[in-house]
Amino acid sequence: MGSVYLERLWTAGAELLDNTRVLSPIIKNDFIKGVYTKGNKGGETQECYGSVVIDASGMAALLRRQTPVEWGLEKEILNEDTAVLYQEIREVSGAEDYEYLRIYMDMDVAPGGYYWGISKGKNIVKCGIGNPDERGFS
Ligand SMILES: Cc1cc2nc3c(=O)[nH]c(=O)nc-3n(C[C@H](O)[C@H](O)[C@H](O)COP(=O)(O)OP(=O)(O)OC[C@H]3O[C@@H](n4cnc5c(N)ncnc54)[C@H](O)[C@@H]3O)c2cc1C
Repeated sequence: MGSVYLERLWTAGAELLDNTRVLSPIIKNDFIKGVYTKGNKGGETQECYGSVVIDASGMAALLRRQTPVEWGLEKEILNEDTAVLYQEIREVSGAEDYEYLRIYMDMDVAPGGYYWGISKGKNIVKCGIGNPDERGFS
């Protein structure tokens, strides 16, 4: 996590539990009240409670996957909602130096997907392509 965000969190009184894995949600009266955690080096399972619980586990969707069926939340990420990406950092002579990410949608180069370029200084470009993860498409 960026140090700027950490600084803000600490200023707001947050406690960081580093090297800690979230195992599952603590569900009481049909609400997620907290999470069960465990240190990466083992030890006892801990309970952490909060007035708001946010599942920020990315693709893992760790908490959402463990919610009761009756809540009706989507648990699996379908292949057609994901993309296969490939990125390289390349030295290219004469590359323009620009400040922002450039992202392109082009049905010939990346049908249904996109490609991008990020200038990383003089003649260095971070570039990649991403296509939907569908059979025969990527
Ligand atoms: C090659 C590539 C290039 C990209 N370039 C860009 C870009 O230029 N601009 C852009 O906007 N996006 C870009 N993206 C997409 C961007 O990286 C993702 O959209 C973003 O990281 C998603 O953020 P997130 O916080 O939801 O999940 P993540 O960044 O995946 O964070 C999830 C975190 O949860 C942690 N976690 C998972 N399970 C547990 C657990 N049980 N206990 C504790 N922690 C857990 C993981 O370790 C991880 O740190 C790129 C992605 C790729 C692959």
